Amino acid sequence: MTAATLTGTCPECETDLTVPPMGEGETLSCPECMLTLRVEAVEDGRMHLRMVEVALRDWGQ
Ligand SMILES: [Zn+2]
Repeated sequence: MTAATLTGTCPECETDLTVPPMGEGETLSCPECMLTLRVEAVEDGRMHLRMVEVALRDWGQ
């Protein structure tokens, strides 16, 4: 059986997230706190998520 969705918990705001199947290394945005989260691992339909440090884009101005 293949799960139709994956679940995970945002490490920042602890919102429960349900998303289409994703692979390790893919990223998503938390709808609550808008942080970018990366899938570190998938285990039994649950994702282990980690915050991604998003570097501020500095265009040299
Ligand atoms: Zn969040």
